[in-house]
Amino acid sequence: MDTDELSSEAYHAIIIEAEKFNHDLTLQFGVLASSCDNEKEYLHQAKEMIKKLEKIDESSLSIIFFDTFPEKIYFLICLQKILANISEVEKIPEAKRYYEFFTPNFATGKFNKISIDNFLEKYKLSNPKEDITKLKKSIIEFRKLKAAGVKCNCGGSLWIIGSAISGKGCFTCITGESDCSNDYDIK
Ligand SMILES: [Zn+2]
Repeated sequence: MDTDELSSEAYHAIIIEAEKFNHDLTLQFGVLASSCDNEKEYLHQAKEMIKKLEKIDESSLSIIFFDTFPEKIYFLICLQKILANISEVEKIPEAKRYYEFFTPNFATGKFNKISIDNFLEKYKLSNPKEDITKLKKSIIEFRKLKAAGVKCNCGGSLWIIGSAISGKGCFTCITGESDCSNDYDIK
């Protein structure tokens, strides 16, 4: 099977959780799906893989993660989180899980980076009647959330400016577009 055949509960539990930690870990769980026939088997195999990963030595870690070698303690915490997520998914009967082709929105291109004050100045020019103080508060709040690892519901990275103006989301979920290189986000 392919990871996009997983229920969205299983996809979030494993793939999104791994992606929050490190993309190379996502690849490990992604490849695993191809050797499984169904979700039940995949969840089982994922647990088996976690058991092996927990005992892995440093040199094998560097084979998986190349030069983005993680701190082992965070690696173990992430594996524990995925394991806990899997138990939660297994409590939901398969028929009650939600199946739909599901891809997180990872925007392409890079935002133009801007400081909060420079952005507010620009914003005030085109929106002279808007309450800048409230917007500034909201930007600071979303910047904190992003730094704390909060993601868009789709698993994509938060767009601080867009979230502050129109509610929590990534660039693609807020605008419907994928290339963010003509837009700004906070430094
Ligand atoms: Zn999104």
